[in-house]
Amino acid sequence: MSTKDNVNCRNCEHFYTTWNKNFPYGCRSMEFVSKSLPCTEVYKLEGKICLAFAEKPIKTVIACDLLFGQKDDEEEINIIV
Ligand code: SF4
Repeated sequence: MSTKDNVNCRNCEHFYTTWNKNFPYGCRSMEFVSKSLPCTEVYKLEGKICLAFAEKPIKTVIACDLLFGQKDDEEEINIIV
């Protein structure tokens, strides 16, 4: 769930990190890299929140598979990546 008021690149499917220490963050939607979070740069330039925000889907994993590679005692957890 998201609202326009809580746009954050870390929850956006267009967000990625780079290997460039001077510009560690990137936005695939607008095709730029930046020193701070791209949504911050958008707000500085446009004076508005980012309208291209697309919330990442929540991925469900099986905890036992993740930790032990087993399927015994399956327990589902939600991890937001
Ligand atoms: S689309 Fe907007 S919220 Fe998503 S990564 Fe780009 S700047 Fe950030």
